Amino acid sequence: MDWYTEQWSNDCKFSIAYDKELYSEQSSFQQINFYQGKEFGTFFTLDGLMMVNEKDEFIYHDMIVHPAFATNPNIKKVLIIGGGDGGTAREVLRYPNVEEVVMAEIDERVFRLCQQYLPVTARGVEEDSRMQLRFEDGLEYVRNVPDQSLDLILVDSTDPVSIGEGLFTTAFYKECYRVLNADGILINQHESPYFAEYAANMKKAHTKIKDIFPITHVYQYHMPTYPSGHWLFGFASKRLDPLKNLNVEAWEQFGLETKYYNTNLHIGAFGLPNYVKEALNR
Ligand code: SAM
Repeated sequence: MDWYTEQWSNDCKFSIAYDKELYSEQSSFQQINFYQGKEFGTFFTLDGLMMVNEKDEFIYHDMIVHPAFATNPNIKKVLIIGGGDGGTAREVLRYPNVEEVVMAEIDERVFRLCQQYLPVTARGVEEDSRMQLRFEDGLEYVRNVPDQSLDLILVDSTDPVSIGEGLFTTAFYKECYRVLNADGILINQHESPYFAEYAANMKKAHTKIKDIFPITHVYQYHMPTYPSGHWLFGFASKRLDPLKNLNVEAWEQFGLETKYYNTNLHIGAFGLPNYVKEALNR
């Protein structure tokens, strides 16, 4: 038994036990490691940071996908940026109305290794005829997408450092605005309010998105293995509001079984603590 440790801040570390390191590779973009342990099952890290584990992946993947579909049940064309583990695509492909899903993931090795070591997220994704896999930079990919052609963009990215930096820029958010149609929704991995470094990233992203989209919200979820466990997604759109336009009946009619998400939690997730609201609006 050994310990995987992540530095959450200068004065805070998070460690979990693992029995076996399954795989290690330096890809063209990042260091990829897969581990297996009792508490969290199989998990993988990129550049030493926890990405996905079998125990809490359902929380992240429920919350990046379902709030948008409960706001607009007619979503058909979806772009996932990043998301190489496949979990976000897995949840999107559960919706029968969805016609086309593109995953623009910069590092093919992440997806191929998740197909091998993390089938809970990757299984069945490539096999679905609605799925298109594009292994390229998300910012470059979105630049070549036609105007107003998409219903939903899900940015399932790493943090705004190294290869992920471009996905937290004004240029990227402006491209997202251009390619989304009138009912279009942008959901982005929006960091965390608790530790200073992540809170600064959260604030920067919100300030940029607020200048581009008429409707912007931030919603929260409990992610035990991410720094502080309190993480956020951004919800930005041109017309649809996740609370005013929440369509409980339509979402219930999909009849999807979910381990984390429900429409009551949906409402609660947008009810942010005061210190978070203040930080976002400062
Ligand atoms: N849930 C995780 C998190 O919040 O940290 C993210 C999971 S997912 C594995 C993140 C993916 O984003 C990685 O596979 C990484 O290769 C991909 N990625 C990072 N920068 C990218 C970029 N510029 N374009 C496309 N994909 C990118």
